[in-house]
Amino acid sequence: MMKNHVIIGNGVAGIKAAETIRRNDSDCKITIVGDEVYPFYRRPQLPKLVSGKIEEERLWGKRSEFYEKNKITSLLGKKVTEIKSDENRVALADGATLDYDSLLIATGGAIKSRSYPGSELNGDVVALKTIDDAKNIKEKIRSAKSAVVVGEDFLTLSLIEALQSSGLEVTYLLPGDRLWPEIMDKDASYILELKLKQKGIKIHHQTDIKEILVKNRAVHGVISTADILIDCQILGSVDKLQPNIDFLIDSGVKTDNGILVNDTMLTSVDNIYAAGDVAQLLTDPIEASPKINVRWLKAWRQGQIAGANMTGKEIEYDDVACVSSTQVCGVDLISIGISNPLNGGYKIVRGEFPHPEIDVYKKLVLKDDVVVGALFVGNVLEAGEITKAIKNKKSYSEIDAALLKQMFDLSSRVSPFRGFLCPVCKLELPISQDAKVGDRITCPACGIELNVTEQMLG
Ligand SMILES: Cc1cc2nc3c(=O)[nH]c(=O)nc-3n(C[C@H](O)[C@H](O)[C@H](O)COP(=O)(O)OP(=O)(O)OC[C@H]3O[C@@H](n4cnc5c(N)ncnc54)[C@H](O)[C@@H]3O)c2cc1C
Repeated sequence: MMKNHVIIGNGVAGIKAAETIRRNDSDCKITIVGDEVYPFYRRPQLPKLVSGKIEEERLWGKRSEFYEKNKITSLLGKKVTEIKSDENRVALADGATLDYDSLLIATGGAIKSRSYPGSELNGDVVALKTIDDAKNIKEKIRSAKSAVVVGEDFLTLSLIEALQSSGLEVTYLLPGDRLWPEIMDKDASYILELKLKQKGIKIHHQTDIKEILVKNRAVHGVISTADILIDCQILGSVDKLQPNIDFLIDSGVKTDNGILVNDTMLTSVDNIYAAGDVAQLLTDPIEASPKINVRWLKAWRQGQIAGANMTGKEIEYDDVACVSSTQVCGVDLISIGISNPLNGGYKIVRGEFPHPEIDVYKKLVLKDDVVVGALFVGNVLEAGEITKAIKNKKSYSEIDAALLKQMFDLSSRVSPFRGFLCPVCKLELPISQDAKVGDRITCPACGIELNVTEQMLG
């Protein structure tokens, strides 16, 4: 009998699942419901859309022909409001319902802005998550000179870069003592802060917003908790990404911060799967408690696994659960596992880092001599090998001595390996020795085509 699959969420996890289902079963019915009106796009490119470095054209991961060619019914601009798992049915905001044999929830997360005195008067504090956010910010930039941004993690840094690259004066209010404290120690933060400052971004540490100043329903400044008045016409406030799970009340699907899934991406209901930023893994080789890891490549892989398992395969997600990879002001950054332990009992190996003359920083985190975490800033050449070591619970002494020398000994920094992070999905892409400026490279994960530049060749 023809199977009927429904996917909620038209992001990378949902799209990859749909593609995988179609590859495994040419006859089944596939429906994707997404509350954004656009076909699938590459979200990490949004900062570049804001700053005008790319046109909307470059954002599309799939066009409408993809859905037609793969016989996928796309219900875009439609929101799911309820799941009735005992009836195998989902309800949409417009009153329609959809029946399913198997269901994937790939609804990602939403950025919640913090609330401050004055924000209720404006309701127009910006964050960057969707194309519509990007268009809204772009429009505001036309009549703005300066911006204030408050927040801590990489989504905050993305917004700051987008605003700065658009020619605005940007002041960054950092509530703590460093950037992205979940993964970064002070030395790593220092390197990135230096880059931000070189771009003219002013950073105020341990500072938040005391009050937003609003005139004629538009922001014209903020007063910081240090009682400093800062002019701005754009205010960005970025809190952590909150998984979109509101519609799951009474669904029978177990949630914590996100949707709890096992390593086959199955939820507590036996024909409902979840993948991507909304999924929280019950099993993790390192962490004791389930975590959500906001990462493009992870959503891609989890979508692929969920899609395969929805068609009867039995594939497990066996990646290191917490990996973050991004670029800040052109600096590549990868954190794997426990990269910034907050409790005692861990040993840190940093070789010759930090070094005053180079903007590179690498470290390994060991627990009882087993490698449980790593951080790479500015040069990520060994990150792939170290990820494998962490996944396989290797002890420090089992790691290849030549790899450790290349990683930590500055005199041996000349490596036969050349590579860079894909600007979209941040996959590490090697460049062959004979590559030349202008050669084309296609990322195998997200499919974006890139020209080799001098910077990539080092
Ligand atoms: C500005 C920015 C920069 C980023 N940079 C990086 C980076 O450098 N490196 C990296 O690894 N990751 C980066 N990310 C994160 C990465 O984009 C996400 O991890 C990835 O997009 C998650 O994919 P997903 O499919 O799980 O969710 P999403 O891409 O969020 O897709 C989920 C979709 O489901 C829709 N939806 C939600 N609720 C409903 C509902 N009830 N009904 C119907 N549809 C619904 C949402 O609107 C959305 O369209 C960045 C993200 C942003 C916003």
